[in-house]
Amino acid sequence: MDAALIAYWVITILLFGVLFALAKNFKMRLWARVLIGLGLGGAMGYAFGGGAEGCADAAACVPASSKFFGDAFVRMIRMLIVPLIFTTLSAGVIAMGDPKRLGSLGGRAISMYLVTTVVAVSLGLVFGLIFQPGVGIDLTTVDVSAIDSVKGKIAQAEAAGGIVDRLLAIIPENPIAALVNTDVLAIIFWAILFGVGILMAGEKAAPVARVMDAAAEAVLKVTELVMEVAPYGVYALMAWVISTQGLDILVNLGKLAAALYLACFVHAIVTYGSIIRFVANLPVVRFFGGIVDAQAVAYSTASSNATLPVTIANVSENLGVEKSIAGSVLPLGATINMDGTSIYLGLIALFASQALGIPLQGTDYLLVALTATLASIGAAGIPSAGLLLAATVLSVFGVTSEQSVLIIALIFPFDRLLDMMRTATNVTGDAAVAVVVAKWEGELDEEIFKAKSVA
Ligand code: ASP
Repeated sequence: MDAALIAYWVITILLFGVLFALAKNFKMRLWARVLIGLGLGGAMGYAFGGGAEGCADAAACVPASSKFFGDAFVRMIRMLIVPLIFTTLSAGVIAMGDPKRLGSLGGRAISMYLVTTVVAVSLGLVFGLIFQPGVGIDLTTVDVSAIDSVKGKIAQAEAAGGIVDRLLAIIPENPIAALVNTDVLAIIFWAILFGVGILMAGEKAAPVARVMDAAAEAVLKVTELVMEVAPYGVYALMAWVISTQGLDILVNLGKLAAALYLACFVHAIVTYGSIIRFVANLPVVRFFGGIVDAQAVAYSTASSNATLPVTIANVSENLGVEKSIAGSVLPLGATINMDGTSIYLGLIALFASQALGIPLQGTDYLLVALTATLASIGAAGIPSAGLLLAATVLSVFGVTSEQSVLIIALIFPFDRLLDMMRTATNVTGDAAVAVVVAKWEGELDEEIFKAKSVA
């Protein structure tokens, strides 16, 4: 066996031992262990991969041999999505006691989601103007074989991103099939109606009401159990990403990466920070401290859907958001609210305009903002969904579909590290809105939010 492979596994097993001891003997908090796993995994991926260039052959990459830990972790959290949304949401509706309250809840959540998304797209545009990420990009270097595979992926993403079809699909023809297919919006729709039905049935349905509440509690406990695996899963995912991707992106698309990371930080600190501080009147540091697990899981998986159970658990247990609010606002957010993706789409528009030499005129900015907002709502919470929907945004200022494919194919191989940042931002935005809506609805336990033990 290859010496590097043996060394990698020996060190990995030792590091896992350390992570375990930190939990067992030192009672270190989960969020700190998750962050350590993230850092160690990244460092091991860098050391045992192809260094800065990344492995030429991803399959033969040494750190890729531990990816199955990451995959196992992702499967474990994904397994919680359906039972968690279904039980917390219907139990939540029952706990609200009055179906009419759902209208105000939904209205508030959707308006906040829209406001933050519009701010995000505008930030993307501003950072694109400042950083000029597309200037000096040579589009003739794009690999022709990459173009064909990207074309297929774009077609798939666009088919899944059609707004009208997605709206219709919210009504499940068969709720069981919606559960089986993890069709988040359809499950939300059915769970709300089911909760309303239980309320309307009154005494007769009281046993079902108790079952839903108890089941929601139990599934949250399972989430806690699964999260104990997070430090190892996050380690394995980071080792794989960093080793196979390398840091080439910094050379090839460095300005795009810098603009995205910075814009996401600014959005998190300024936009969400202000919402938490001035709208909800709460301490900002506590907010970020309470959702570190969700951010780390979002960062390492690049999927807000997969992160959803962790977001629900963090927001309800660390930030004191009532289960009913977390269970309704967060699944909706994971599906329609993607601020990191919106920032990215604004940036990509300027990247393309600069790389192709097609300047944006005054109204183009508005059209880009509008289509980027719609595309981010339509994008699924899975890896690279945002990039694959960029063509719609680019088409509004005269970029042909061939040119869009070229731009997307150029970025696609390096997208993962960008995707990780925008997914972490997407999830942070969902959590911020959940906190504010809970505060407005009088369903926020501020004692828990402010508790020292959280962060
Ligand atoms: N991966 C992102 C998410 O899951 C979507 C995107 O590609 O921007 O939230």
